[in-house]
Amino acid sequence: MNYEKYSRCACGAITVTVDGQDYSCLAYRRKKFFPGLDLRKVPRFETSYSCNHCANRFGLDLCGCGSGNEFGYCDGGFDACEVPMQKLGEYTCVTDGDSWVADLHKQSKVI
Ligand SMILES: [Zn+2]
Ligand SMILES: [Zn+2]
Repeated sequence: MNYEKYSRCACGAITVTVDGQDYSCLAYRRKKFFPGLDLRKVPRFETSYSCNHCANRFGLDLCGCGSGNEFGYCDGGFDACEVPMQKLGEYTCVTDGDSWVADLHKQSKVI
């Protein structure tokens, strides 16, 4: 697991590029989601005012359905609520089931 760079967002989230993929979570939760991350050793990019976390609701700590609720605290009742939106080293967003991202992908295939 290689932490390549990170940036903070005005929303309070941090986005870290790990092995070429971007993962986000609220900054105060980073120790839980990015084991061994030492920000002093990772290049910092400009603070942003819109990030995956607040704009797209992509986060290690967010519900997989895209509601923007904390994972485990969503009452959406969708299949995608069973998983977090991102999982470090596994995937950067939920793309199947009821996730709104699934529709997005059908339309654009951006990611
Ligand atoms: Zn943000
Ligand atoms: Zn949910």
